[in-house]
Amino acid sequence: MKLSVIIPACNEEESIDIIYNNIMSVLEDINFEVIFVDDGSTDKTLQVLESVYKKDPKRVKVISFSRNFGKDAAIYAGLENANGEYSVVIDADMEQDPKYLIRMLKFLEDNKNYDQVAMVIKKRKAGNLFKRFGAKMFYIFINFLSDTKFEQDASDFRMFNSTVKDALLKLPEKNRFSKGIFNWVGFNTKYMEYDVGTRIKGKTKFNFSASVKYAINGIVGFSTRPLKLASLFGSIISLTGFGYLVYVLIKTLAFGADTPGFATIVCLILFLGGIQLIAIGILGEYLSRMFIETKNRPIYIARKKIGFEDEIL
Ligand code: UDP
Ligand code: MG
Repeated sequence: MKLSVIIPACNEEESIDIIYNNIMSVLEDINFEVIFVDDGSTDKTLQVLESVYKKDPKRVKVISFSRNFGKDAAIYAGLENANGEYSVVIDADMEQDPKYLIRMLKFLEDNKNYDQVAMVIKKRKAGNLFKRFGAKMFYIFINFLSDTKFEQDASDFRMFNSTVKDALLKLPEKNRFSKGIFNWVGFNTKYMEYDVGTRIKGKTKFNFSASVKYAINGIVGFSTRPLKLASLFGSIISLTGFGYLVYVLIKTLAFGADTPGFATIVCLILFLGGIQLIAIGILGEYLSRMFIETKNRPIYIARKKIGFEDEIL
């Protein structure tokens, strides 16, 4: 089998048929499979997927989760069950047009020294100004903090060979930040531009708070620098404090003690208290993730697997 197309889908009942038909028309000459991962949808996504499977049982496969485990878990499940020489991850909402699949596949076939093609948004049209600004800040911030390099606007829309797939599957973490994982494994990656489309049906699952959570997850998952910030701030503040102490001492010896300074003390207490709480909060972010990882729970639980040898019906 040449290509495995992995499509994570959470509440995408209206998009499934459209993306399926699109992929079929684009890839007609290629030996491929489509693995839909229903990530705990609460609408009719699973029913639609079952009917798509009935129409085309040779090429369509469906994994349905017992609940929502997140897009990154869905990508993992797809990869774990993929059989193709190449795998590609694509969204269900047509923001990533399947017409690019041929170009990606051709590039990898023609350039064997490349292992991965990552699609980069040419011009961010989707989302409002606020979202675009947020995305920009996220890349600046994460590249500053992390040792792993993050390409601006590179999406999860990627195609790669089975060596990369095996490497991705070897990363056992439960908190899977795919953007980071794709970069962390390395390999020769070709960045290719694409025009991002607009979501045809349904609505995005990444609203403001989900996006912030996603960003924090990425930063905590791929950098330990925030942990060290506390020591940096601590050193700066204690040095300043020491300098001030010397100044006060000399001043008192020379001119005698004075009493005012309430405002200064209150400000200092609030400032230092704030810094300490932030530092503890940062520790908490890392600790909570360690807690989850040490429990060693599975990345996802499948309730149904249709079209595979190890079917769960
Ligand atoms: N998705 C998923 N699980 C989730 C959230 C999203 O499988 O918990 C899927 C979703 O169905 C879509 C893709 O991930 O196919 C991208 O999601 P979305 O379009 O909501 O994100 P955006 O494109 O707005 O970043
Ligand atoms: Mg989308």
